[in-house]
Amino acid sequence: MNRMRCRHCTEQAAINMRQHKLALCETHFVKWVQEQTRRSIEKYRMFGPDDRVLVAVSGGKDSLALWHILWSLGCQADGVYIDLGIDGDIGYSDQSRQCIEGFLQAFRLDAKLHIIGMRDTYGESLPEVARRTRRGRAKPCSTCGLIKRHEMNRLACEFGYTVLATGHNVDDEVAVLWGNTLHWQADYLARQSPVLPADRPGFVRKAKPLCRLYEREMAAYALISGIDYIYDECPFSAGATSLYYKEIFNEMERHSPGTKLKFYLDFLRAKKNGLFPPGQEEELEPCRECGQPTIANGMCAFCRLWEKRILPD
Ligand code: SF4
Ligand code: ZN
Ligand code: ZN
Repeated sequence: MNRMRCRHCTEQAAINMRQHKLALCETHFVKWVQEQTRRSIEKYRMFGPDDRVLVAVSGGKDSLALWHILWSLGCQADGVYIDLGIDGDIGYSDQSRQCIEGFLQAFRLDAKLHIIGMRDTYGESLPEVARRTRRGRAKPCSTCGLIKRHEMNRLACEFGYTVLATGHNVDDEVAVLWGNTLHWQADYLARQSPVLPADRPGFVRKAKPLCRLYEREMAAYALISGIDYIYDECPFSAGATSLYYKEIFNEMERHSPGTKLKFYLDFLRAKKNGLFPPGQEEELEPCRECGQPTIANGMCAFCRLWEKRILPD
């Protein structure tokens, strides 16, 4: 039985974070997570009181916890949900949306929720467009990433938000970092960062305020705070390489607590010291269909997805 006491009071500890040698009760843990998030926002200059923040919500624990934390910190962020039309056995997209709407009601957040339905807006769900185009025949994940990046940036720009915040935790960041390192993808390594500035026209700033928090901590935060989130993973995530990388790092973490965080923070330090200098920036032009910046000549990759619907190859 866990008889460990909270570092700050006499209550029984709800969580023991071995990598920090820190055990905390529910109340102090919730405050600790909020304070860690506040510090990341400040340290990496993600946003300030004058920014308009939009949270990318999926219905999962990380994005809903992030939204909850931001409001607790006094940041009245709005949310955006992309309804990809993924069914699976459980009606995945519908359930995700219900969790988000339930969250807003439960916590009485006076926040706006923007919903972009792929079927309503573009006439096809993600699985449909992925099946039709060569890009996503095996797995729709790369098409999904393209759609989410495009639509969230578009909506944020259209509605005058200055920052798009996502719920990536350190486990997510380490899985991406490991994939990029394994293949020595220097350009991706140079771009991986807690914050991506909006340094070119047409882009909104991207921020990951949970980037130093573990997935386990976010699950505990959601549970303790009473956030009801979608427990099921997306049906297309089965067999994803990122899940395999996460398992490997969890195994290393068991042997040596703090491995994940150290790998990530040492990477950020190395980058700051010039180990991965940014490559030459490609020229961007506005897409002739949607106006968003693109390296492609004429039409961006997102608009080409729908062009193929009219002119099938
Ligand atoms: Fe999109 Fe699902 Fe793939 Fe994640 S697992 S990228 S939500 S299709
Ligand atoms: Zn306590
Ligand atoms: Zn376009």
